[in-house]
Amino acid sequence: MIIAAMNEGTIETRVAITPVAVKHYLELGFEVSCEHNAGKAAGFSDEDYQHAGASIIKDSKVLLQKTNVLLCVNEPAPDELKGLQPETMLVSHIDADPGSDLILWCLKHRITVFSMNNIPRISRAQSMDSLSSQANLAGYRAVLAGVNHFNRVIPMMMTAAGMIQPAKILILGAGVAGLQAIATAKRLGAVVYAFDVRTAAKEQVESLGAQFIAVSEGQDAETASGYAKEVTDEYRQLQAQLIDKYAQLADIVICTALIPGKKAPVLVKAATVDKMKPGSVIVDLATARGGNCELSEPEQLIKHQQITLIGYSNMARLVPTTASELYANNLVHLLRLFTITPTKISFNEEDEIIRQSLLCHDGQYMPLHLVKEK
Ligand code: NAD
Repeated sequence: MIIAAMNEGTIETRVAITPVAVKHYLELGFEVSCEHNAGKAAGFSDEDYQHAGASIIKDSKVLLQKTNVLLCVNEPAPDELKGLQPETMLVSHIDADPGSDLILWCLKHRITVFSMNNIPRISRAQSMDSLSSQANLAGYRAVLAGVNHFNRVIPMMMTAAGMIQPAKILILGAGVAGLQAIATAKRLGAVVYAFDVRTAAKEQVESLGAQFIAVSEGQDAETASGYAKEVTDEYRQLQAQLIDKYAQLADIVICTALIPGKKAPVLVKAATVDKMKPGSVIVDLATARGGNCELSEPEQLIKHQQITLIGYSNMARLVPTTASELYANNLVHLLRLFTITPTKISFNEEDEIIRQSLLCHDGQYMPLHLVKEK
């Protein structure tokens, strides 16, 4: 049984299999193949993979024809998968959209698809939760990006030449990325404020030493699964006023707010940006879903008057070695759920993690079965 990773091109810097992961897959009974230069941008050479026991394949078509399990970071286009044999497994971050070109192609070619986006957030699956492993790094890197484009220092300093006041950093959304952003900003010595619509976030924010800012007591927009839901128009107005006030105090604003399956909430209006202090920086991690700031542009760094707006949606890519190590570990943990023999890979479809993350199998779109069962 062969497990493989592709070279995912010029924009993606991460890789789905690291040399350490190669060793785990060999122990599980796989042979491992990597496309030439698959890990180069993440700092892993072909020689590193070969030393770990993997083979390097130059021609991606040959790699696809031979592999039984293909691991990717991003959702591949159907064109990139030509050559995969029926029954091959594809594991990646894939949208659960039954009408997407990729899903239709995989159903037609009887490819078994697992999506890392759908790993359930239960304790047993924490080691496989790549949305969290990558969001955590994104939160950290977003603060560093903001600080790098800020013309002042962050911590308070008492120097002979004068006293320096600490910078103020406002974090919007206190989920996985936001909490790591708070922790990073605190370590740098900033005064940190954070806002979230889930009241459960208050205790977590305060335990990191930041101040939780709230619209009003007793309002909570948390769903049973722990995510945020959309808020009322009245709440949205109060939220805009609160953020307007704190954004004017802040030197750096880090936006991480998302609502699963929906457009990102607009939290920083253009009029608020206009009132911010010259030299302030906004880092918007939500641009792939429309952005939390009205003025940020996806994947661009722009200036609005004297405010810098950074709209890079995938900050984990800027720490590709660590991000690949964590993602590769997430995948190894998922693959440990499978039974691997020299001729077959099987899995227990009753397992909660398999049930939630399995999108296509035997030419069928599996989430439809979950809906029918409900
Ligand atoms: P996410 O990426 O969907 O959203 C990020 C944050 O944005 C969330 O905290 C959300 O409440 C917030 N948000 C949404 N709308 C907002 C608005 N209008 N204003 C301000 N903030 C807004 O969520 P996430 O970071 O993936 O995690 C969500 C929750 O799930 C957290 O409580 C997290 O601790 C929890 N979680 C649990 C597990 C587990 O148990 N295995 C794993 C990961 C995350």
